[in-house]
Amino acid sequence: MSIEENNTNDEKKGLNFVEQIVYDDLNAGKNGGRLNTRFPPEPNGYLHIGHAKAICMDFGVAEKFGGTCNLRFDDTNPVKEDVEYVDSIREDIHWLGFDWGDREYYASDYFEKLYELAERLIKEGKAYVDDQTSEQIAAQKGTPTEPGQESPYRNRSVEENLDLFHRMNAGEFPDGTRVLRAKIDMASDNMHFRDPIMYRIIHTPHHRTGDKWKVYPMYDFAHGQSDYFEGVTHSICTLEFVPHRPLYDYFVNELADETYRPRQIEFNRLNLTYTVMSKRKLLQLVKEGLVAGWDDPRMPTISGMRRRGYTPLSIRNFINTIGYTKYEALNSVSLLEHAVREDLNRIATRVMAVINPLKVVLTNFPEGKTEMVEMENNPEQEDAGTHRMPLTREIFIERDDFMENPPKKFFRLAPGSEVRLKGAYIIKCEEVIKDAEGNITELHCTYDSETLSGMPGAARKVKGTLHWVSADNAVDAEVRLYDRLFNVENPAAETERDFREMLNPESLKVVTGVKVEPFVAENASQGTKFQFQRVGYFTPDLDSTPEHLVFNRTIALKDTWEKVQKKA
Ligand code: ATP
Ligand code: MG
Repeated sequence: MSIEENNTNDEKKGLNFVEQIVYDDLNAGKNGGRLNTRFPPEPNGYLHIGHAKAICMDFGVAEKFGGTCNLRFDDTNPVKEDVEYVDSIREDIHWLGFDWGDREYYASDYFEKLYELAERLIKEGKAYVDDQTSEQIAAQKGTPTEPGQESPYRNRSVEENLDLFHRMNAGEFPDGTRVLRAKIDMASDNMHFRDPIMYRIIHTPHHRTGDKWKVYPMYDFAHGQSDYFEGVTHSICTLEFVPHRPLYDYFVNELADETYRPRQIEFNRLNLTYTVMSKRKLLQLVKEGLVAGWDDPRMPTISGMRRRGYTPLSIRNFINTIGYTKYEALNSVSLLEHAVREDLNRIATRVMAVINPLKVVLTNFPEGKTEMVEMENNPEQEDAGTHRMPLTREIFIERDDFMENPPKKFFRLAPGSEVRLKGAYIIKCEEVIKDAEGNITELHCTYDSETLSGMPGAARKVKGTLHWVSADNAVDAEVRLYDRLFNVENPAAETERDFREMLNPESLKVVTGVKVEPFVAENASQGTKFQFQRVGYFTPDLDSTPEHLVFNRTIALKDTWEKVQKKA
């Protein structure tokens, strides 16, 4: 896999290759000119950014050509599935901006019909019950260059097969003791045709059908038929299903008449640097407490990204940028972060917050006085307006913005130097106050009272501008600073190591005692997007309350990380 960042959309027509196929089918009048896609998640985990790519395709292509898209839960394995996942999947798709109307379906809706089809195939001599274990069956599968071995149970009578299949479903046999297999061809070039398993026995109750069934269809025996039952015309999925396509068509052929037939089309999965996309691994992180939950802001899940402050538009823009191809690729997370910055720059309200505060006393500012200064909410939007921020004799600035012995090009505050307080006056550092150990405890500065916007001295130039808050009015907050969850570029490729060894121990830093301007505290409702000026983009976390404000750093203002990596 190589890093591929190009949009390989067909520039001429502006259609990607899947859209091109759909467009051609519609033009040719296939399926009576109908277009119906589906998004088929298995409710065995939360959706991640890879699913978002599939969602944008399935719903997007339907939207583009006036078709519809079904939401179908592929709930064929009760051992791993749960309603919690069903609910989260619904929420995440809606949040991304897509809707399935009343077309919410479940593979379990078709269990009856699939069971009937299985019975029919048994009667036609096209399926048989195999009493071997899955290990024995796998051992007989052969290799792509050597034919497989036929099961000793392959030539059972129809009567015996039907009887055993019914008894499998009646709960007479324990899990794993028998399966129903399609009788196709143990010497086929396509491994999926070597008598694939259609049904297995599972005694765990199902979240929708309870204990009605004891046999459950495999993906290959459920997916194409479910598409067919729903009238799906274009069944769009990822490249790993290419070898399954002949089997998909084989089972559909057992049902379809000449008028209509669903068509499977495959595109490349989304793989992102510095994370993993496997639901199994993500579940492990959650179960072992290595993250705070599926919606931990470091997770590549949709719910994690929402909690972190990513916007639906930024995710959709990112997916548009990487595009859809027929080649597997590894996409750089920096591209996603770029899309997030771009959208937040457009919509985030500019405010002041000091992460690591250093007190500054403005010695010539009257004691007890509060002056309200005007702050622009968003220079990127004409009608975003302003808000007012208090200035008092004591303020906080960022500790990093002061240096006692600065190098030449340090344009921030130093003994005897001048800077502008963003949106307010120019100040000059007159004195550095230290404690007995020599730590700087506060600065004494004077302010130039003629330098506020609109005043005669407003145009006076100084090199640095600092963010600040009033010490009397600032509100305390906690901020959570996130970094990449893994410290290797492609954890999935490092097969020699356990993926948990590659977790970045610095992926979360919690900072308390942060000082935010009162306007931030007043507007810290869920979903609000702030730019803490000169610091980054932040949003209130789900844990935030008026008594204990908590903000997630969605992303820093600049991509410093890539640069650091290159130097290292
Ligand atoms: P599982 O291993 O549980 O099957 P999955 O990631 O394939 O995991 P599904 O719930 O089956 O999960 O996926 C639903 C749909 O999302 C499928 O059509 C699948 O192709 C698509 N999808 C899953 N992962 C990605 C990805 N990384 N990029 C693009 N599409 C994806
Ligand atoms: Mg899958």
